[in-house]
Order: sequence, then structure tokens, then C-alpha cells
Amino acid sequence: MPPALSQRAARTVQSEIRVMTLECEKVKGVNLAQGVCDTEVPAPVREAAKRAIDGGTNSYTRAEGLAPIRHAIAEKMRRVNGLACDPETEVIVHSGSTGAFYASCLAMLNPGDEVILFEPYYGYHLNTVVAVEAVPAFVTLRAPEWKFSGEDLERAVTPRTRAIMINTPANPSGKVFTREELEWIAAFAVKHDLLVFTDEIYEYFVYEGKHISPATLPGMRDRTITISGYSKTFSITGWRVGYTICDRKWAQAIAYFHDLIYVCAPAPLQIGVAEGIARLPESFYVGITQEYVRKRDLLCDTLKGIGLTPSVPKGAYYVLADASLLPGNSSKEKAMSLLHTTGVATVAGSAFYHGGDGENLVRFCFAKNDADLEEACRRLRGLPEKLSRITLATSTR
Ligand code: PLP
Repeated sequence: MPPALSQRAARTVQSEIRVMTLECEKVKGVNLAQGVCDTEVPAPVREAAKRAIDGGTNSYTRAEGLAPIRHAIAEKMRRVNGLACDPETEVIVHSGSTGAFYASCLAMLNPGDEVILFEPYYGYHLNTVVAVEAVPAFVTLRAPEWKFSGEDLERAVTPRTRAIMINTPANPSGKVFTREELEWIAAFAVKHDLLVFTDEIYEYFVYEGKHISPATLPGMRDRTITISGYSKTFSITGWRVGYTICDRKWAQAIAYFHDLIYVCAPAPLQIGVAEGIARLPESFYVGITQEYVRKRDLLCDTLKGIGLTPSVPKGAYYVLADASLLPGNSSKEKAMSLLHTTGVATVAGSAFYHGGDGENLVRFCFAKNDADLEEACRRLRGLPEKLSRITLATSTR
């Protein structure tokens, strides 16, 4: 037999976000498809990383990461999240939270294990579960509040269910899980003896409600793998620094898989992030909320004004908007038509659902510098007139 790709590779598809980004570059549009924050990197983070390079922190580190960042994370988890953890045995520094989730799945899941995902989901969660040959099961969050019911969760359980994934605040819905919801999930996880993965990368992007780390709820400490990172908070998506917090009985195996795939997170950048966590004052995080509420409101008001009714997010930095009025038979066609009429790239809603939902949604990202976001909004405001011209042209043809 001639060489061929693995069955695993055949199951993976290019992310919709990359497809839109390439198309956006072709038309020189404004890219609100990709979750890349192009706001400024805080000075203490940048400067500490530069000093670390100049000072010679350029070699492999322990797979778990350097002591200063592990200690800074443990102290922050205690102070901010209310979760006590041992920096020597329960904190692992990873190549981004993406690396953290992949290494955790390799360490914790067997092929055929089922993992419950809420949808709309973040595509990497789904694809990572599939890549380790586990099987996703879906529970749909219902708009506008993105609620789920206990019955929906119970229906998703089978004898093979091994884990549930929580993403709070969530991409793409902007949902911030409430204490009541998390308590419900905690009781459900205990009842079915499930592992809980929680991705908290947007923990500092909360506009309404409060971020609660699921691991702090009763019965959850030992069964929860908490994943987060600084890509978003410090605007360093290209640095690849994230982490896992979990009970010591899992940590060694997770660190082992991280070592196998990535060896370690970039050494000097671990130092930059450690310095940021330890030095940046509370006002820095308050500033993020204020800045992103402003960006959220600018985008949501613009979308309301042009009839792409937004689901106003309580956290994270994405908006799912109703795309019914856009031409096209699917959300992919609608996203493409929006790009070609206005020059603003979004992601088709179908990218966040497994079974044909999301066709009337598109996702906008508002993690953009003010000039780009304002330009995108200016272009979007021209949509009604452009659409009416298209309608007129087709009706008089
Ligand atoms: N988790 C969620 C929910 C995300 O939306 C993203 C990026 O968009 C990531 C993780 C990626 O984080 P990292 O850069 O730490 O790998």
C-alpha cells in the first residue's frame, strides 16, 4: 500500500477561523474572525522576558516549568481564585493552555472514553478530544442566556462517560457559568464519578457576574483539572505560556506528556509571565475589564444598529450575532457575504456546533486595538445600504 495519512489526520479539518483569515487577507479586510488580541503587552512582562534572554535563561526547563512562575501561579490561584495548590507538585507550566489541555487529555483519557462538551464549543476542545481518540458528547446551551438543563446533561451520560468540559467565561457564547450552575455540574460530576476539565483562559474578561473556578466547589478539588494561561490577559498569544492545576496524583503524568510533545514552555517567556503575575497591580486587571466592556459595547451597539442582533456576552471577547438578514444558505455563505460586502471577517456559527445548528449565527471577536475595531464598525454601519443596493439590483434585473 502506498504511504497515506493516518485515519486521525483524515478526521481533522482546517479550522474555519484560518480559512476566514486567509480570505480576509486577500480582500484586505478587518479580521474580527480570529481571537488574537493586538493590544499592548504590559511593560513588566516584556522587560522581564528581555532581561531573562540577556541574562541567559535560554535552555530547557523542567517539564513542569521554572520555580518563579510555578510559585507566582500558585500564589495567584490562592489569592484570586481561592484555590490552594502546591507549586512543587500541583502546578504545571505548559506551552499555552492548548498544550495544557492536550497533555491533560493524553494523560487522563482512554480511546473510546466519552467527554461531554457544551455547545457552542471552542473548536480546539472538540478536536483535542477527537485527536486522543476519545468521543465527544454534546449538551446544547440555549440562547439568549446560554442555559442548559439537568435533564440534557443526564441524557448525555452513558457507561463510557469519563469527563465533562467547562469553559468559563466561554468562547464563543460569552457565558459566565453561575455558582448555581457550577454547583449543579459539581453534584452531577460526583454522582457519575466524572473528571472535570475547566478552561479558564478568559478569567479576567468578565463584564457581568463573577468568575468562579469550578475546582473550588465542594467535592471538586480532586477531580478537576484547571487549565488557564496568559495569552489573553497579557496579549501574548504567540508566547505560548499556560498552565494546569490538578491533584498531585495526576500532575506527573500530565507533565510527562507535556515533556514528550513540547519539552517545556519557552524559558525566558516563563520568567516574563512570572514577573507579570507577581508585579502587576489589581488596577491592571480592572483596566482590562473597563477596556473590554467599552469594546464590547461599541461592537454590540453597532450590530444592533444594523440588524445583526448580538447576544451580548457576559465574558470573554466574542459576540455571536444573528445573521438571518445576510444573503446565503448557510452560516459559511453568510460570513463570506459579510466579508465581501463590508470587508469584515467573522466566523460562521456552524463552526461551533456539531449537528447543523448555528447556521444563522456569525461570531465577531472584539479583541482588537481601537483603530481596527472602529474601522470594522464603520464598515459594518454601511451594511444596510449595501444590502439594499444588492436587493434593488437583483429585483430590477
Ligand atoms: N481556550 C479558549 C477557550 C480559547 O478561546 C483560546 C484561544 O482562542 C485558547 C484556549 C488558547 O489559549 P492558549 O493561547 O493559551 O493556547
